[in-house]
Amino acid sequence: MRTKEIPLSKIARRQFLKLSAVAAAGYVVRPGAEAIAQEMPHLDPADAFAKTMKYTEDASSVDPASRTNPAEHQVCSNCALVLGTDGEPWRPCQIFPGKLVNANGWCSVWAPKS
Ligand code: SF4
Repeated sequence: MRTKEIPLSKIARRQFLKLSAVAAAGYVVRPGAEAIAQEMPHLDPADAFAKTMKYTEDASSVDPASRTNPAEHQVCSNCALVLGTDGEPWRPCQIFPGKLVNANGWCSVWAPKS
């Protein structure tokens, strides 16, 4: 029995179309970085590294005299190391990868934005 041969160019075209469809579907259903970020867990202030960095969810609870950096208004939302979008209540931080910090929080690594 003889099978009908399919020209290589047709196979390649079919592969290309399939891959394009998969890629397009992935682009449509893949959540954006912001959506992924908001799914991350909140940093627990009781976490060992968070405690070492003196992280708190409420910067107003920190005695300004205990800070090494003299800048007056220090919260995560105005820290140079915070990521994400302004206005979000919980944001990623470069010091605590995979966790979200409170925008009104603070830790001893706080640095002014340039
Ligand atoms: Fe907040 Fe900055 Fe400390 Fe991250 S490094 S927890 S953004 S103060």
